[in-house]
Amino acid sequence: MSADFDLIVIGGGSGGIAAARRAASYGARVLLLEASRIGGTCVLRGCVPKKLMMYAASFSRAIAEASGYGWSGVSGRFQMEDWAEAKVRELDRLEQIYQKMLADSGVEVQIGRAQIAGAHSVAVAGRTLSAERILIATGSAPDRMALPGFAHAWTSDDVLDLRSLPSSLLVVGGGYIAVEFASILAGLGVPVTLAFRADLPLRGFDDDLRSSVAEGLKARGVNVAARSQMQSIKRTESGFVLHRANGEPLHAQAALNATGRKPCVESLGLATAGVQLDEKGAIVVDNQSRTTANGIWAIGDVTNRANLTPVAIAEGRAFADTEFGGHPTEVDHRIIASAVFCDPPAACVGLTETQAGAMGPVDIYEARFRPMRTAFIGSQERTCMKMVVDSRTGRVLGVHMVGTDAPEIIQALAVAVTAGIKKADFDRTMALHPTSAEEFVLMREPTRTAGGIASKIQADLKET
Ligand code: NDP
Repeated sequence: MSADFDLIVIGGGSGGIAAARRAASYGARVLLLEASRIGGTCVLRGCVPKKLMMYAASFSRAIAEASGYGWSGVSGRFQMEDWAEAKVRELDRLEQIYQKMLADSGVEVQIGRAQIAGAHSVAVAGRTLSAERILIATGSAPDRMALPGFAHAWTSDDVLDLRSLPSSLLVVGGGYIAVEFASILAGLGVPVTLAFRADLPLRGFDDDLRSSVAEGLKARGVNVAARSQMQSIKRTESGFVLHRANGEPLHAQAALNATGRKPCVESLGLATAGVQLDEKGAIVVDNQSRTTANGIWAIGDVTNRANLTPVAIAEGRAFADTEFGGHPTEVDHRIIASAVFCDPPAACVGLTETQAGAMGPVDIYEARFRPMRTAFIGSQERTCMKMVVDSRTGRVLGVHMVGTDAPEIIQALAVAVTAGIKKADFDRTMALHPTSAEEFVLMREPTRTAGGIASKIQADLKET
């Protein structure tokens, strides 16, 4: 007996939608199951509303800087309610676009919570449907377990749904979400404290990028509480208090838990289906997103590889190309550009100085300067650029930037880094003047050589 569908996709976020549409384009009969709304974290609870909130915050800065450029009488007050209404309309519009794209692609959509009932069957809304293949693309959700007391704190979902601003905010965590929301809420005029346990925010990023981001947060008025040994967070009459083993308690009217996300695997029936999870609760997959159960694949955050929208989309399309298109495809997870939308923003592609230096000697090129736009009004803000180059081959291994338009600039440079560009190619590229980006083609001499044997020799010389 033939199956009801060639493919059932569980999860209507960026990855699931991309996989469903690509599979349908090859003629597959596809059903997409989604528990709530089409669009997933990126469109409804993440990248899109976050960036719309970031744009809202950016006007406070433009208003403050306008007088330096000769404008008088520029002032304003942020009405969160108005922004929230406009955001709801925009997300509704985007959801409808996704629904239409799925319908136009021939993908059938059903709203309902799905449970895997066997290698080739899924239960949803009282029915059991069969498919040749099942793809799990259920994403991730905020983790509330990092500290006792987090049950009452906001998550990023709650902040994006606010209708009014808190009088003060305590952000716990030092990753993407913590840094972005601390910066955005501070930009909207909220007194923000950012508490994290490391020396600098954004563990895993290049150290120079991390210290520039910390400087940027402080310049925006964020109280940066680094090296906080957090014990618990408690609700008080006036808000929240964060108890720390090594410092005064931190108080605020509201608290945001930004201590990471966990894969959404509950109630999917994975154990009975034979789908293995790793120690962090993520679905174990191979290079072609196959789980340990025959007939079941998984992509995106639920697999905890690189938890970024474009990666989930690439994994979803690679799955469909492999299984339905006849082109076996694997996603290359080695070079992935990413950005942190704080103010000024940070972005990077490729290896950090520490990662590259562990593999061999690297030349480090840097530029730190006051950009024209803010220097004109007397700001001390600095743009920071850094290039990590393999000393032996001249290949550019990593590019890092903190400054206005960094995400846009790094996206373009990511093409070059992915193509294996060499430092000499930057050197023979004509500058586009006057821009900040031109500094990347004007870096003549390395500021230092690091890593590999070269740094060992330098360290030995220092000691003698
Ligand atoms: P991250 O994993 O980036 O950061 C988690 C933070 O929480 C880290 O600073 C970590 O500290 C801290 N933390 C974890 N456990 C504890 C604990 N028990 N006590 C104190 N601190 C703790 O998670 P996010 O929630 O910021 O982001 C989730 C995912 O969403 C990321 O993987 C990211 O890829 C994605 N994302 C991407 C964005 C973008 O591309 N711009 C924007 C937002 C999210 P430590 O470093 O010390 O471990």
